[in-house]
Amino acid sequence: MIEIELLPVMSDNYVCLLFDPATGTSGVVDPGVAEPVLARLAELGRGLDWILLTHHHADHTGGLPALRRETGARAVCSRGDVGRIAGIESGTDVAVGEGDVVTFGALAVHVLETPGHTRGHVSFWISGEETLFCGDTLFALGCGRLFEGTAEEMWRSLSKLAALPPSTRVYCGHEYTASNARFALAVDPDNPDLRRRAEEIRGLRERGEPTIPTTIELELRTNPFLRVGDPAIRRRLGMEEASEVEVFAELRARKDRF
Ligand code: ZN
Ligand code: FE
Repeated sequence: MIEIELLPVMSDNYVCLLFDPATGTSGVVDPGVAEPVLARLAELGRGLDWILLTHHHADHTGGLPALRRETGARAVCSRGDVGRIAGIESGTDVAVGEGDVVTFGALAVHVLETPGHTRGHVSFWISGEETLFCGDTLFALGCGRLFEGTAEEMWRSLSKLAALPPSTRVYCGHEYTASNARFALAVDPDNPDLRRRAEEIRGLRERGEPTIPTTIELELRTNPFLRVGDPAIRRRLGMEEASEVEVFAELRARKDRF
């Protein structure tokens, strides 16, 4: 079973350290900075084989040059991001797209294209472990902002992630859950699962603990961006007859102003 450790870095980013004990393979997802990753690897007495990058934003990739220099690890990134991530080396690194599989030790990492936040955004799905790394696409109780994509693209990406097995553990790129919960309660106030979860989140954050991983099942019950078909949410928005994409776009626009 893969070992996953969360490293909170900068104001609210998460870097994930991965380790496959069966093969000794070591990896990191979205290292926005290198120093805390190198320090933790040194404590663990581990090298680094793979650097998985969900999208080109600096808060997810800034640590790449130093990590490569210090460890010799290879990067995996979206084909569309090759030209815009500082430190990608086309001879060494692996450029991927939908359906590609990267071998991580004894594990298969499947690439899912999830554009919307950025046009090159990918998510990594470790099928044998029911574990997902989705960067800034799906957040606990929220979703990424639409910087380069349309609401329709983001809705399609979120639907792809929502269709993964319900027990999938979801690791996202930021600790935004408390503020996401406030918005979720504003549009879905009578959802008992959401109210309970918002209480739990408050407790976790008061103790300085992370609110992730979440699961697909929990998001389906509580994340308004995955619940655009819900009659109560539609009624609140006055959008009973609208399409799913239209409801999603309205929720995303309201969250931007919230
Ligand atoms: Zn981003
Ligand atoms: Fe980010």
